[in-house]
Amino acid sequence: MLGAGVMGLVAALTARRAGLRVAVFDRAADLSAGAGWRSGGMLAPECEAEVSSPAVVALGRRSMALWPALADVALNGTLVVAPPRDPSALARFARMTTSHASLGADAVAALEPALAGRYGRALFYAGEGHLDPRETLTGLVGRLRDAGVPVTFGWTGEEAELAAAAVIDARGLGARDRLPGLRGVKGEMALVLSREIALERPVRLLHHRHPLYVVPRRDGVFMIGATTIESDEGLAVTVRSAGELLTQAYAVHPAFAEAEVLEFNAGLRPAMPDNEPVIRRVGRTIVVNGLYRHGWLLAPALAADVVGYMLTNEEGKTPCVSV
Ligand SMILES: Cc1cc2nc3c(=O)[nH]c(=O)nc-3n(C[C@H](O)[C@H](O)[C@H](O)COP(=O)(O)OP(=O)(O)OC[C@H]3O[C@@H](n4cnc5c(N)ncnc54)[C@H](O)[C@@H]3O)c2cc1C
Repeated sequence: MLGAGVMGLVAALTARRAGLRVAVFDRAADLSAGAGWRSGGMLAPECEAEVSSPAVVALGRRSMALWPALADVALNGTLVVAPPRDPSALARFARMTTSHASLGADAVAALEPALAGRYGRALFYAGEGHLDPRETLTGLVGRLRDAGVPVTFGWTGEEAELAAAAVIDARGLGARDRLPGLRGVKGEMALVLSREIALERPVRLLHHRHPLYVVPRRDGVFMIGATTIESDEGLAVTVRSAGELLTQAYAVHPAFAEAEVLEFNAGLRPAMPDNEPVIRRVGRTIVVNGLYRHGWLLAPALAADVVGYMLTNEEGKTPCVSV
């Protein structure tokens, strides 16, 4: 396995559980190199329908059934809200997605007491979930090592030197040598600490220019994300983006004004020109990439298809192209 990002680790565990002997190799010194380290960890197949193809939504729904066997996931759903002055945003989002319930103020307060009195209407996607990406990546490495799978960081070898019968290439943006058109889509995020607010689930704030989500983590930490910028140059967070993220968080709940900023960060989402995931066979190597803005959501279903393809040589539900 090349790459110890979410795709590589989930595929490695899936392959191991299918009875294969597996080893994982990553160029980076530790887990913090990949896009997944800086991500939200939302598992949102229904909300992603706003910007994604039916194929992506279907993969995401399959993954929701697979995640509980791989890691600790919170299956508390997603709450979608809009600024009170823009009720049409909620109606538009409802039209573009399915599997939601329309909530009034009392139901919002019952689900998230911290938001009581703030939103008269909301959409609730009960079938969605979230996880902590950093805990999950660390946990996946632990599960792999417990299962006897060596996971090597700081790897300096070459793919051609590997004696394996088959190689899975899950290098994210590191696979540009093999996938012309693969690009990075920059996403900036913040981690903040607030003891004044408690949320049980991701809250998405719709906005025509600066949509935002807040994902609760352990011990009062919240991930606030994320920008979507067509650029794969540099990982600096700009003053403008930092300001917009924090201002919008403050719009979700004014108590975020007093939150402590723990971290600003940015990641590059690996994306193909059509923003769809790809599975490709190149000789003994199966390449899986292009997870774009839903790598956590898609990884388990893509891993099942890749491993199924390795074992049977038959395509799974994700179209696989031989080149
Ligand atoms: C701000 C932000 C928020 C996001 N929020 C969400 C979200 O809420 N839900 C969701 O589903 N997705 C989200 N994503 C998207 C998700 O993080 C990505 O889709 C996912 O990380 C892609 O996984 P990957 O394993 O393909 O690539 P990566 O996570 O980038 O991992 C690639 C790995 O390959 C390694 N590598 C590179 N080159 C080599 C080499 N030559 N040899 C060996 N190893 C190599 C790298 O070191 C890295 O560890 C978000 C992304 C960002 C940036």
